[in-house]
Amino acid sequence: MSDQSTTFIAKSTVKAADKEHRRKINFNISRYNAVVPTGKQQFSNIDLAREKAKNIKWRAIETLDKQLEAFEMNSAKRGVKLLWAETAEEALGQILNICRKKNCSTIVKSKSMVTEEIHLNKFLGKNNIESVETDLGEYIQQLDGEAPYHIVTPAMHKSKEDVAKLFADKLGTSPNLTPTELTLVAREKLREKYRQAEIGITGANFIIADIGGIAITENEGNGRLSCAWPKTHIVIVGIEKIIPSMGDLDLFWPLLATYGTGQKLTVYNTILLGPRQKNEIDGPEEMYVILLDNGRTNILSNEKTRESLYCIRCGACLNACPVYKNIGGHAYGTTYSGPIGSVITPHLKQMDDWKHLSYASSLCGNCTEVCAVKINLHELLLDNRAEAVEQKAYSFAEKTAWKVWKSAMLNRKLMNIGSGKLKGWMVNRFVKDWKKNRSELVFPQKSFSQQWQDKHTKRD
Ligand code: SF4
Repeated sequence: MSDQSTTFIAKSTVKAADKEHRRKINFNISRYNAVVPTGKQQFSNIDLAREKAKNIKWRAIETLDKQLEAFEMNSAKRGVKLLWAETAEEALGQILNICRKKNCSTIVKSKSMVTEEIHLNKFLGKNNIESVETDLGEYIQQLDGEAPYHIVTPAMHKSKEDVAKLFADKLGTSPNLTPTELTLVAREKLREKYRQAEIGITGANFIIADIGGIAITENEGNGRLSCAWPKTHIVIVGIEKIIPSMGDLDLFWPLLATYGTGQKLTVYNTILLGPRQKNEIDGPEEMYVILLDNGRTNILSNEKTRESLYCIRCGACLNACPVYKNIGGHAYGTTYSGPIGSVITPHLKQMDDWKHLSYASSLCGNCTEVCAVKINLHELLLDNRAEAVEQKAYSFAEKTAWKVWKSAMLNRKLMNIGSGKLKGWMVNRFVKDWKKNRSELVFPQKSFSQQWQDKHTKRD
């Protein structure tokens, strides 16, 4: 068993028994569930919209090389400096180079899962560069020294009382502040950081091939400030975020808003086309876009799993997953949690270390049912399990146990040996973990074939 697997089991065991955690998550997810149907009403045929979005992403991913080249060519026309990063280390090195060139000591950052994936804040901190999260949820998490809990709502596991207490502890405010007052405190602190920052870093929800543009979706306006106020703007984004045309946003923007937060449209939707141009009065003087691979081409090369690159990170599959709702986002120990995280992490990292996530699923199919772009998530989890077996990513003990089980199940004589009591005694000795939260396995006194024979003998 890998270290990651042991940690996952330990953390999820604790969280699953934490009733207060479950209460907060159920409350927040119930609010999400209440508004999603309203967002869906804007589509005359929501199923068709999802199908169409899936087809657009299919085309984008099947022609990824050409789409990325088109993006490179078109973005360069308006002065974007494009960098390609094969690994997290390469991307971090590129960001550090830019920071050194700009003599940068403070960065303002908007919410980006890719920056979490490459552990950017930690890296910048080690290099004496302060990186400040400006999305309120991310700001709360950064104050608390925690990673995001959810890919859309980073502080979903915290109540407003938890946040008031955190602000009181870290910022010295009153522990009884209301959400509005807490937001104003964050706003005041962050304004100062915007003024100081030499560089703003953002992710991107979509990269648009035909216009060489970057699309950013957010509800707070902090993303716009992060890319427009500092003199230098760095975008870091995974290569799978490509869409072929600006016209595709007509579908993707409302779809992302509906499945992400139940809104018809997110409050701020911005398309960025390079740094400030000669005839423009605002915007950064320089704009860099770092296109990150970091394991995505492994997924691309796998015909089955490739579909997971269609993901628009709406978070709906996390909210629908009974496992996620019980163990929470942090137990996964990964940047991307929930069903989509369980599908992609073993391919982005090592199958051997992360295959256990494929089993963090009841295979109920709810994730597939709610996915904004109709990714067959639960089937991909099964494919991961199969792949782990093909890659021999299992222990000797596991292999032996299944071998013995298979031989017994395929041999009628062996199956008929011993009473139900004896079989129960033997099997229950090997399933100690299973029994921790369950009653003992009880075998019938007679095997199926013995019962069958009895039944037919009596009839004759
Ligand atoms: S897999 Fe589907 S439901 Fe899950 S985050 Fe991605 S787009 Fe949303």
